[in-house]
Amino acid sequence: PHLKMDDEAVIATNDDASECKRGAVLLGYWQDNYIPYFIKHHQRRAPEINRGYYARVKGVEKIIHKFLSKAGSNAQIINLGSGFDTLYWRLKDQEIKLCNFVEIDFPAVTSRKCYLIKRNKQLLQRIHEKDQEVKLSPTDLHAGPYHCIGADLRNITELENKLYQAEVNFSYPTLFIAECVLVYIENDCVNRLLSWIATKFPKCLFIVYEMCNMNDTFANVMLENMRVRGCNLAGISSCKNLESQQARFQCNNWLGSKAWDMVSVYYSLPNSERQRIEKLEFLDEQELLIQLFQHYCVCLGWTTPEFADCDFE
Ligand code: SAM
Repeated sequence: PHLKMDDEAVIATNDDASECKRGAVLLGYWQDNYIPYFIKHHQRRAPEINRGYYARVKGVEKIIHKFLSKAGSNAQIINLGSGFDTLYWRLKDQEIKLCNFVEIDFPAVTSRKCYLIKRNKQLLQRIHEKDQEVKLSPTDLHAGPYHCIGADLRNITELENKLYQAEVNFSYPTLFIAECVLVYIENDCVNRLLSWIATKFPKCLFIVYEMCNMNDTFANVMLENMRVRGCNLAGISSCKNLESQQARFQCNNWLGSKAWDMVSVYYSLPNSERQRIEKLEFLDEQELLIQLFQHYCVCLGWTTPEFADCDFE
């Protein structure tokens, strides 16, 4: 399919994120046995960037586990703009069983992911369920509860069809994840997506990881760096502050929402773990880390009171 220039630059952000994660894993920030199968190279980034990735991965994991403990055996996870995320394989290693796990990204990304899974024994083994066949097309893969599907999140009709193909049960407890994805999508389309999810999924929790507090000098430098790479940050106006992240859910028929900046998320992680990773690399300027953490947030939205207390407190 023909892709717009803008979309190509957005797709490239997945390679960047994957290379950064691989670099941080190599230094021992967290364990991920699967990321090397998806991305060959790694990027050596500044210590504060690595700590940022650590806080993001661990912060999101913390919410995932809270959700799973409440949702029970019918739990579903739908990762929007999942890129080369390895969550399914990491959960599998912890013997966590899910009713359904769906990854969605542009077909240009999922076709690469499907191809890599198909030719890698370690990856394939863990998605292969006894007595279940693996169904493959160039852009989609279905294997028991695991589904990797190509779709444009701006196209709700296509998304809905693909979710039916992935045998998603709209009434089951469902966790949506969107890490650094919504910022690339026009506000109108995000609003449409969020209100569609709210009406379709009565028992759902949504995790957004995104930039926030984007109206100071530090933010301008961050934005300039991203724009140089040709990315159109079409949804940046929702990243103004924590309130604008929360408001997005409230305006689109969600029952409730709450946002935390990454300073709060980082300090909610276990002390022992923080001390461990802070010894991995020498950090010159603590101030820079705090500034970086003030410019990213996790925002949660829920459609049922059951998930209102999944939080960082
Ligand atoms: N969530 C992954 C992570 O945290 O590592 C990948 C993040 S990457 C910065 C952004 C991802 O969102 C890319 O893989 C991109 O292709 C995907 N994406 C952006 N807009 C999309 C859209 N309209 N439809 C489907 N995927 C989209």
